[in-house]
Amino acid sequence: MTQNILRTVADSQSWAINTLKAYASIPSISAQKKAIPETVRFLQKTFAACGLKTRLINAGGNPFVYAEKIVSAKAPTIIFYNHYDVQPPDPLDEWLSPPFTPTLRNGRLYGRGISDNKGNLIARLTAVRALKASGFTAPCNIKFIIDGEEEIGSPSMGRLVQKYQKQLAADLCIWESGSRSLDGRPEISLGYKGVLCVELFVQGPNIDMHSSQGIVIPNPAWRLVWALGCLKNEYEKIMIDGFYKGCVKPSLSDKKVGEAYPLHEKESLRKLGLKNYVLGLSGKRLRDHYFYDPALNINGLTSGYQGKGHKTVLPARASAKIDFRLIPGQKPADVLKKLRRYLDKKGFKDIKLSSEGGYVPVQTPVTHPYVKLITRSVEAVYKKPHCVEPISPASSPMSFFAGFVSCVAIGIGHPDEKIHAPNENIYLKDLLLGSQAIAQILMDFGKKA
Ligand SMILES: [Zn+2]
Repeated sequence: MTQNILRTVADSQSWAINTLKAYASIPSISAQKKAIPETVRFLQKTFAACGLKTRLINAGGNPFVYAEKIVSAKAPTIIFYNHYDVQPPDPLDEWLSPPFTPTLRNGRLYGRGISDNKGNLIARLTAVRALKASGFTAPCNIKFIIDGEEEIGSPSMGRLVQKYQKQLAADLCIWESGSRSLDGRPEISLGYKGVLCVELFVQGPNIDMHSSQGIVIPNPAWRLVWALGCLKNEYEKIMIDGFYKGCVKPSLSDKKVGEAYPLHEKESLRKLGLKNYVLGLSGKRLRDHYFYDPALNINGLTSGYQGKGHKTVLPARASAKIDFRLIPGQKPADVLKKLRRYLDKKGFKDIKLSSEGGYVPVQTPVTHPYVKLITRSVEAVYKKPHCVEPISPASSPMSFFAGFVSCVAIGIGHPDEKIHAPNENIYLKDLLLGSQAIAQILMDFGKKA
């Protein structure tokens, strides 16, 4: 039976490509509030054509599109999370074909949202549609929740989960996307680090001044640099009091899969034009640091004159944007409090901080039975050993779901997919394999329970 369904998925490839082209032609840019109603209409129509019931859920922002196929109250339930919004396509002149005219070149389909996240949804729908076309009812209940604001931080997700948790309830959640490793192996990601973004503001004199006055007038750019300088030392240690308190150490099994993760160290460094990773790390120690340590990044610094030539100015103000990537055991609100306390203690009470929410870290253990099921199903389709990313160093609203359902991320991306950048793309062969992997998971998941 499963073989028949996998063949039907293969026979549905022209439907998959055409539907993805139509979907990715709609410029659903949440940051610019573009084309939201027409994207929602497109999704409702497409879900209905695949045999799912849809409804729109309003949680205060762009509507969520919810779709379901319930076969029985006793059957296990799988929910897919995806998002229909995309990043702005800028810079436009770097695209080799127009971002919202999906274009095929050398086995790859190019366009904004082709991978992140429209291609992933279409792969999943192709699997559901193939089950229906084979005259077979999936042995599990299937739900989809499609976010319209993921690219702007999913501001309505908290309200959605609070109000509609019963409707979203499931035994397993397949998160929005995933990739394969440089050596072509399917990747399974089990969670995300948390994130806290903070902006620091320093006010100096109330006007820009002649820099000769810097001998007596406090310079806000210096204050900012001194404050930033005491947050992290040259050994990459974050100096904020209590920052590492409560951090949960990885289990032995999670550590083992992390150590086996293919980082392709030399090749990645060469591509970046770099000689070393931080602290000269490599091998196991690099992987441990990558997955299991929190990070503090400076994202941007602004002060004074940045134009051509030189201007001897003492700037009136200075600001910096930073982000913390958090590991299990840390919470954004708690880290923000500790940052404030630490800056005060170091004599930087005048530095103002602003921050919005953030995400807590989330991780499904590698020993979870559904992780085993998914890895088996994926390997059966790809005919290659999988690799596991125990926790992604990136962050995601998966944290909202992790409280009530176990989440695992897989998808159709690849290391050169260029998401958020010009010439975003997927390989058509990944669209096919990704659709078949989902069909296989649906069959195995239903059988298991
Ligand atoms: Zn994205």
